[in-house]
Amino acid sequence: KTYTQNFNTTVYQGTITVKTGLFIDGRWVDPVKGGDSIDVVDPTNGRIITTIQGGGPQDVDIAVKAARKAFKTSWGLKVPGSERGRILNKFGDLLEKHAEELAALEALNVGKPFIPTKLFELRSVVQVVRYYAGWADKVHGKTIETNEKKLAYTRHEPYGVVGAIIPWNAPLMSTVLKIAPVLATGNTVVFKPSELTPLTALFIADLLNDAEVPPGVVNVVNGYGPTVGSAIALHPNVDKITFTGSTLTGRKILKASAESNLKGVTLELGGKSPTIIFDDVVLDQAIKWAALGIFSNMGQICTAGSRIYVQEAVYDKFLKGFTAYAEDLTKATGPPFEQGSRHGPQISKIQFDRVMSFISSGKSEGAKIRIGGERYGEEGYFIKPTVFVDAKPSMKIMQEEIFGPVCSIVKFKTEEEVIEWANNTTYGLAANVLTENSARAIRMAHALEAGVIYVNNTISGEINVPFGGYKQSGMGREMGEEALATYTQVKAVHINI
Ligand code: NAD
Repeated sequence: KTYTQNFNTTVYQGTITVKTGLFIDGRWVDPVKGGDSIDVVDPTNGRIITTIQGGGPQDVDIAVKAARKAFKTSWGLKVPGSERGRILNKFGDLLEKHAEELAALEALNVGKPFIPTKLFELRSVVQVVRYYAGWADKVHGKTIETNEKKLAYTRHEPYGVVGAIIPWNAPLMSTVLKIAPVLATGNTVVFKPSELTPLTALFIADLLNDAEVPPGVVNVVNGYGPTVGSAIALHPNVDKITFTGSTLTGRKILKASAESNLKGVTLELGGKSPTIIFDDVVLDQAIKWAALGIFSNMGQICTAGSRIYVQEAVYDKFLKGFTAYAEDLTKATGPPFEQGSRHGPQISKIQFDRVMSFISSGKSEGAKIRIGGERYGEEGYFIKPTVFVDAKPSMKIMQEEIFGPVCSIVKFKTEEEVIEWANNTTYGLAANVLTENSARAIRMAHALEAGVIYVNNTISGEINVPFGGYKQSGMGREMGEEALATYTQVKAVHINI
């Protein structure tokens, strides 16, 4: 089955066709048992874009078998790394060729503004694939000589079949962040996109075919978390699971591993990142970075800097400038294909309600709204950029991940006190520090309990730098060379000479 969308907007015109079934063993198939019909909804107006087919545990099982067969016969160590790299480069070229269509699908499904998605995100997506294509023939072990009668060496072998499950906030980027290193290291994959945002992954499945990725190497099984997701996590023949999503679901994945085959687990989970502004900053720059840190992608980023701590001497000026930024962004709110649109909707009614309930809880716990705090427009799931002041550390808005365009601005006096406040969270994904004092920047970077520290910026995601969380924000690392270790296991071979 297919779905065709005609785009006739001022920023993009075109026609895109997406297949809506399951992609298993290089073919489009229907779920074996009828499966679930999943409505894909346009977040700008709540209307159904299309209905796709979701699978069940039996489809996962068929996909795992296809992935195992491909691993043993046409991928893994059967294929030289250079060949895997060549195929990945071809895939990267196809992503580049279809960048406009991919950006349009992503904008349609997620509500992300089309122009920045096309200009920036697509460039990074292609970069990810090329980066790991380059690594495919450079995954080496070591020779370790112990004495003249003994030799040992290590091999970094792929796990085999990897299960990959992703969320809805950046589906295209999350898809390639999983698929590229998994394939570069020789694994095969059973991949589940979010039920809310499957369109780009479905489009990509056809590109993988065109790139001559052998059948069964990548299998896309759409479906709901508790059916398809949990079938992948529990499957005894899945060797490794790589999950991006909420901390709550991350716990379930870990439990499923423990209850099935102790498959390796990598988790990229939620966050409650602090942004710390010292009084020596260039204020305009600090305001811009702090705002990008929380409002990018409508606050739906795992590193969202939702707790903004500002040193007392610049607090008033910062608050004024930051509020003005939020006001400008509110004026640039609109559907993704509208010229000048920079702020779109939340992904779904559920997320919209969730974010609005955080706003209510902030108010009822005594924090004050400086700007925003309400829906934007009459239809769809738009929420105005929202700024709280007078928030206390114990409040829900200061402790829990909101995953929306909502932040709290808090005044601090000393470096010591802000370190303590910033670290007062169960999360540890990212922390942002803005200061012109380099010694202080380094002290802060070392004192903050997070896997990623941004100094004088807030959202850069260089592909060759590792990414992942401390505390309950995750286990293991994606991106950079570290992702190669995530998808390989080390075998030590001891030889008596
Ligand atoms: P979620 O945990 O609800 O869902 C993520 C994925 O897991 C979806 O595909 C879902 O279908 C699946 N799933 C749900 N229940 C499952 C189960 N029982 N077993 C297996 N799979 C199941 O998260 P979400 O709402 O889609 O995404 C938002 C969350 O993702 C936020 O917490 C955000 O911080 C996090 N996130 C983290 C990163 C990172 O790199 N650390 C990046 C993006 C998003």
